[in-house]
Amino acid sequence: MTTPSLLILPGDGIGPEVMAEVRKVIDWFGAKRDLTFDVSEDLVGGCAYDKHGTPLHDDTMAKAQEVDAVLLGAVGGPQYDSLDFSVKPERGLLRLRKEMDLFANLRPAQCFDALADFSSLKKDVVAGLDIMIVRELTSGIYFGEPRGIIEEGNERVGINTQRYTESEIDRVARNAFELAMKRNKKLCSMEKANVMESGVLWREVVTEVGKDYPEVELSHMYADAGAMQLCRWPKQFDVIVTDNLFGDLLSDAAAMLTGSLGMLPSASLGAPMANGRPKAMYEPVHGSAPDIAGQGKANPIACVLSFAMALRYSFDQGAEATRLEKAIETVLADGYRTADLLGEEGKDPVSTSQMGDAIIAAL
Ligand code: ATP
Ligand code: MG
Repeated sequence: MTTPSLLILPGDGIGPEVMAEVRKVIDWFGAKRDLTFDVSEDLVGGCAYDKHGTPLHDDTMAKAQEVDAVLLGAVGGPQYDSLDFSVKPERGLLRLRKEMDLFANLRPAQCFDALADFSSLKKDVVAGLDIMIVRELTSGIYFGEPRGIIEEGNERVGINTQRYTESEIDRVARNAFELAMKRNKKLCSMEKANVMESGVLWREVVTEVGKDYPEVELSHMYADAGAMQLCRWPKQFDVIVTDNLFGDLLSDAAAMLTGSLGMLPSASLGAPMANGRPKAMYEPVHGSAPDIAGQGKANPIACVLSFAMALRYSFDQGAEATRLEKAIETVLADGYRTADLLGEEGKDPVSTSQMGDAIIAAL
């Protein structure tokens, strides 16, 4: 068997800081679990612009297409704000997503017991929460044509078009059903079929795909009701599948059920490669956090959990992914907290590298 390959793109701001902790974890798996990866590292975002004059070099793009998985830190920073739109750091990220055709964005909302008090919601609402939102990422209202601002009579009109083809719905639905099969065989699809044609088609296609997964209990909900239920009693859900716009909103809302941005991983998956596993990029939900960059304050857990998702979805190492997640649970239960997990008057936070070391010790 060939060694699985991983391309690491630390990026800007706290990206390299949190990625350094993931490197420790990767080394640990190599040394202690005989699980080695063919790891390469490259530039993306502002640092790539500084060196190459582009936020993503063609060679890096080509490399991303070849590897089994990409793990990205974060891109951007205030020093790049004045750059032309075409070379902004975020364009590097968008190019990766677009050219790898990563159409399914997986965002787990998982509440570690030790942090249940930290959530803005009542403890019993979030304790033990473990749900997954699958958001369609490459189509829908953010991309549909026609779009633009036009003159109409004596005023301007802003136009966006929500547009979904059957095949676009089919592939993301399949992805969600596959995920549901690996989890608790429960899937809720959210749209607004009551007021949107794309929602009517969405519901029809998801229902049709569901016939290939008779073991999965499928339900449908209007996205507005879904938003309400997500805040009221999120544990009623397991996997949720929804379109680009609703997924953007619902996954951000679900994220905050769990506490800090520093805790949230994500995966973006595309079509299956020759090895049967999807093209994939993993990244923490948070950005480059310029306000705390370079100070050793960043919470590395979101990035470490993103690597755990890579273990599960790209490397077929579900048991090792669980081992890593359990180690994080242990560290949190033992009271280790980076500053973001302490709130306003929090004292004695651990540093980024101390958190990484604690995770290694727990492993
Ligand atoms: P982007 O536009 O790149 O998504 P953003 O403006 O949404 O960035 P982030 O960079 O994610 O913002 O940061 C938002 C806030 O959360 C900042 O105050 C930042 O310091 C904090 N933050 C983000 N990630 C972490 C982390 N891993 N650890 C601690 N604090 C974090
Ligand atoms: Mg943001």
